[in-house]
Amino acid sequence: MSKDNGAHRIATLERLLPSPTGANPSSRRLGSTRGCLARSPEIGGPVPFSSPDTPGMPAPSEKTAWDFMPNEQESGQAAIVATTQLDHARLGKITPEMEVVARNEGHLSPEQVRDEIASGRLIIPANKIHLSHGLEPVGIGRASRTKINANIGTSPISSSTDEEICKLEWALKWGADTAMDLSTGGDVDACRQALIRASRVPVGTVPIYSMIIGRKIEDLTYEVILAELEKQARQGVDFFTIHAGLLRSHLEHVKERLIGIVSRGGSLIAKWMTHHRKENPFYEMFDEICALMRQYDVSFSLGDGLRPGGLADATDTAQLLELSVLGELTERSWSNGCQVMVEGPGHVPFDQIEVNMKLERRLCHGAPFYVLGPIVTDVFPGYDHITSAIGATAAAFHGASMLCYVTPKEHLGLPKREDVKQGCIAYKIAAHAADVALGIPASRDRDDEITRARADLEWDKHFELSFDEETARKMHEEDMPEHEGYCSMCGHDWCAVRINKELPR
Ligand code: SF4
Repeated sequence: MSKDNGAHRIATLERLLPSPTGANPSSRRLGSTRGCLARSPEIGGPVPFSSPDTPGMPAPSEKTAWDFMPNEQESGQAAIVATTQLDHARLGKITPEMEVVARNEGHLSPEQVRDEIASGRLIIPANKIHLSHGLEPVGIGRASRTKINANIGTSPISSSTDEEICKLEWALKWGADTAMDLSTGGDVDACRQALIRASRVPVGTVPIYSMIIGRKIEDLTYEVILAELEKQARQGVDFFTIHAGLLRSHLEHVKERLIGIVSRGGSLIAKWMTHHRKENPFYEMFDEICALMRQYDVSFSLGDGLRPGGLADATDTAQLLELSVLGELTERSWSNGCQVMVEGPGHVPFDQIEVNMKLERRLCHGAPFYVLGPIVTDVFPGYDHITSAIGATAAAFHGASMLCYVTPKEHLGLPKREDVKQGCIAYKIAAHAADVALGIPASRDRDDEITRARADLEWDKHFELSFDEETARKMHEEDMPEHEGYCSMCGHDWCAVRINKELPR
């Protein structure tokens, strides 16, 4: 009979495991950290929380927003008049909004929030008008917890302002950190105004949608663009998706694609450029747009008009050329004192997600990446909240700061209330899974608490700790309305957790 008590086997196994990268701080009660890839956080460094780089990945940029100061400040001509959160951070000031973000994050101090904003790695999209109507500031950046966005808004076929308010409230109940009003039907101005007043979280829009209501895209002028941006800024929109990175020269590369341009804004601008044989007006007017947005502290969400619409088009030349221009526009936003995040794909095979995230980190100098999904397979319409949550988890682990939800209705129709819930929950799962894997302090505490409640067969506590308490309770009570020391999955005699309680500790 072997006298080996397992020590030899444990030693062999330890040799097979990678060296620990550090104690994962996601839980106060550590437990096992074997196989943990979370690095010690480097708040203030180029990569606050991130996966270790697979060999061959582009290194982080050595530049930050500090390298792109407003011209007058650089030349010492005139003292900068602080308008945006970025201006205040660069001047060393901690704003009330930074205080709120630090308090809500829990693991960041106000000084760290300020310094991350000054470096351009974190933004607080907070229009001064919306702040005066009760906006609760939110921080978006890789030093903070992963955020999720819910898209709502009418279409020309369906919905109304009341329905969209109802969807907004539902999205907030299920954890949306920001909401985008993508309305294209009905009274879009009234709907936007109502959503901003009803929302305690930042609201974003894609202003080009409203610019073409009542006119053809070919009739869009520079004056119309500026007037619409001004109107929406005055209403209190906190961030604008501006598709300024799609240039005329990129269009020839779209011809090689399976599905061409799938971004609404991207396709409209492509049509305008083709018709007028002119460069993208948003690119041409970028500094003027910065000056306008700066007055209200509207943040840029630099749109990816050439995001891939299918796996076959992912990481292609058109997408990468646009990303490179978005890097240039990030620098110009910072030079104009504006806060900026960058939008990303889309549909991406799982193995290409890391390089997409790390390329943005390099080209856009660590500016927060805000990605749509990405969807990792194209053949599950009706389930794209799942296909994309898989990609979104990987995206956040490899560097994305905010995840735009995808609902089961993606590619099929306008989401309804229940689709909004399903999308939010899928994305809360993605964001939370990434935060735990990244080692964001205390992010795993609730997981450990629910594990204890399960081990003790404390059903009420189990339900209370569940993200969707009502669903968890309903599912358990479907077969067993009374709470026993087991459930209907295995029954009394086969309940491993019950048997486990009888084993000597
Ligand atoms: S019956 Fe099975 S599923 Fe239910 S608590 Fe016990 S071990 Fe878990």
